Amino acid sequence: MTSDPTFPKLLVIDDSELIHRLLRVRLQGERIEIHGASNPRDGLKMAKHLKPDVILLDIDMDEMDGFEVIQHLKADIDTQGIAVIFISASGEQAHKIRGLDLGAVDFISKPFDVPELKARVRSAIRVQQLIRMLEEKAQIDGMTGLWNHKYFDRRIADEVAESVRHNKKLSLVMTDLDRFKGLNDFYGHPFGDKVIERFSNILTSGRTSDIACRYGGEEFAVILTNTNSDEAAEVAERYRVAFEASVWADHPDMVVTASFGVCDISRLTGAPTAETLIHAADAALYRAKQGGRNRVEVTPTPKAVAH
Ligand code: GH3
Ligand code: MG
Ligand code: MG
Repeated sequence: MTSDPTFPKLLVIDDSELIHRLLRVRLQGERIEIHGASNPRDGLKMAKHLKPDVILLDIDMDEMDGFEVIQHLKADIDTQGIAVIFISASGEQAHKIRGLDLGAVDFISKPFDVPELKARVRSAIRVQQLIRMLEEKAQIDGMTGLWNHKYFDRRIADEVAESVRHNKKLSLVMTDLDRFKGLNDFYGHPFGDKVIERFSNILTSGRTSDIACRYGGEEFAVILTNTNSDEAAEVAERYRVAFEASVWADHPDMVVTASFGVCDISRLTGAPTAETLIHAADAALYRAKQGGRNRVEVTPTPKAVAH
C-alpha cells in the first residue's frame, strides 16, 4: 500500500480476493492510497473511519449486495459524500440505472479495461476534490478570506467540547472596529473595506492554530486553542497595538482602532458551552466599548460561591 498522506484514498469493497489483488496490480503507480475490505460490513466500517475519496463497490456480494451497501453509505452523514463507483460483472442496463439512481457516480465492468479503469477512478477523484474545495469555499468569507460565521458556529462548539473532554485551555477573543460607521461615512465604503481587510490580516498574523473568523460586518472572533485568558489578552493586545499603529497611505493622519473582549472556558460559571463562552467574550467587548474603546477587556475570574 502506498502511504503518502496527500494521496487520495480509494477503498475497494469486494468479496473476491482475486479482485483486490488484481486492482492493486492494475492501479500500481497511480498516486492513490488503496485500501480493501473483503466483506460489506468491514467495508462500511472502513468507509466511516477512513473517509476515502472514492469507493469501488462490487454489486454481487453474498452477505449484502452493493445496492444495499450504497444505501447505508448515503444514509450516514460521515459517508454520504464519498464518490461510489460500482463494479459489476453483468454489465446489465437495469443494474446501471439502479446504481446511478442510488447515488453512484460511475460504473466499471469486469473484466477491467485498465486504461478505462484508471481514467474513471481519476475522474471521480477530480470531481471529489472539486466538491471539497467548494465546500471549503462556502465556509470562507469572500472579502477577507477568514472563516465565516457559519464555520465559526460549528468550530467553536467542537473546540469547547474538545477542551472540556481533554481538560485543555481554550480562549475566545471577540473584537469590533471602533466608530466604524463614522469612518465609512467620512471616507467612503470602499476605504472602509480596505480597513477591514487590513484588520483581517492582523488577525491571521499569529500562530497558525489560531482560528480567525469574520463574525459579522466589522465584528470578528478569534478562537485560540491551548490558550488561557491571560495569554489571549496578550494576543489581543498585540492585535490592538498593530492595528492602531497602521499607517494609511490615502489618509496619513488617520488612526483606526478596535475593541476586544476576551474570555477562556475556566472563567465561565457552570459547565462551559459555546453559547456561554461567546456571551462572556461579548460582554467583555461591551465593557471595552463602554470604557472608551481601543482596549482589551477580560472576563474576571468567577467569585467563589459563598455557602
Ligand atoms: P462602535 O465603536 O460602537 O462599534 O461603533 P461603530 O460605528 O463601529 O458601530 P455600528 O455598529 O454603529 O456601525 C458598524 C458599521 O460597520 C456600519 C456598517 O456600515 C459598517 N460595516 C459593516 N460591514 C461593512 C463592510 O463590509 N464594509 C464596510 N466598509 N463597512 C461595513
Ligand atoms: Mg464597531
Ligand atoms: Mg459592530
